[in-house]
Amino acid sequence: MGSGEVDGVAERRQWFEQTVRRLHDDVRDIDDGAPADYIPELATVDLDRFAIAAETIDGAHFGVGDTAHRFTIQSISKLLLYGLALETHGREHVLERVGVAPTGDSFNAITLDEHGNRAPNPMVNAGAIAITDLVAGDDLEARVATVARMYEQYLGHRPEPDRAVWESEWATGHRNRAIAYLMLSRGIIDDRVEETLDLYFAQCSVLVTTDDLAAIGATIANHGVNPRTGEQVVRPDVCRDMLTVALTCGMYDYAGEWAFTVGIPAKSGVGGGILGVIPDVGGIATFSPRLDQFGNSVRGVRIFEELSEQFALHLFDPARPWIRAT
Ligand code: GLU
Repeated sequence: MGSGEVDGVAERRQWFEQTVRRLHDDVRDIDDGAPADYIPELATVDLDRFAIAAETIDGAHFGVGDTAHRFTIQSISKLLLYGLALETHGREHVLERVGVAPTGDSFNAITLDEHGNRAPNPMVNAGAIAITDLVAGDDLEARVATVARMYEQYLGHRPEPDRAVWESEWATGHRNRAIAYLMLSRGIIDDRVEETLDLYFAQCSVLVTTDDLAAIGATIANHGVNPRTGEQVVRPDVCRDMLTVALTCGMYDYAGEWAFTVGIPAKSGVGGGILGVIPDVGGIATFSPRLDQFGNSVRGVRIFEELSEQFALHLFDPARPWIRAT
């Protein structure tokens, strides 16, 4: 690589950082949307927190706003647990229990793939609970340890749950219980339902920052190798499957519009985080707890729309190949 190209990379990074700073300024005043309140503890969050972070596959990191603020990962965990299940049990075993079709229904719909007698996809609650059912271990403690190990490999530090959110969801998660027992009645999951639900609520309550999420994104973008530690966290073929369901199902029932306009494999959580993965480039993460009617962060969606357009980040953008050099 000649020095001219290196300069080009530095300039593009500078352009990206300036744009992100400007977008953070432009979007911070948007106060549409409301925090999730069906988990009572989530309604108590600080509404004005706002952060954007990015990390490249070579470990270069950039962030603006409240990048050290911690929030619960919620449904973004579904993407990581899906990877763990595929890696542990293989595609065939997982596909028997959880399909890959977007539903167009809300994330907590009490519906199954009737034809295949399985959960529709791993990004809705039914699928995620069926995936959590597959976490190996003899009891809750052992299974929590399995999930904690996975998080640690992505984050580079021990995961910590927000106990208040975990308990709040345990106390009020009746809809998830309904979904789980329906799946038990169909033979899709094992009969240790309450334990699996507890584990599911625990995995959703893990605290992360946008810095953490950007690092997770960079790992997936880097075919499963964590750029900070050099460790292979998840296999490249599994990353491919994770990215595919993220693109088709990751943004709740807004996933189709998202794929069309933004075109970045992404997963959002009702805690207010969005994680986007630009394959072979890096991860982008946003946090703002004000959600739209689909459950996606209003400011986060806006940031991704702008970044996708300005930097040709849509997977199928004809101008995209240049970013591979960054
Ligand atoms: N723990 C949440 C639930 O199961 C996750 C939902 C989400 O982030 O979409 O309801």
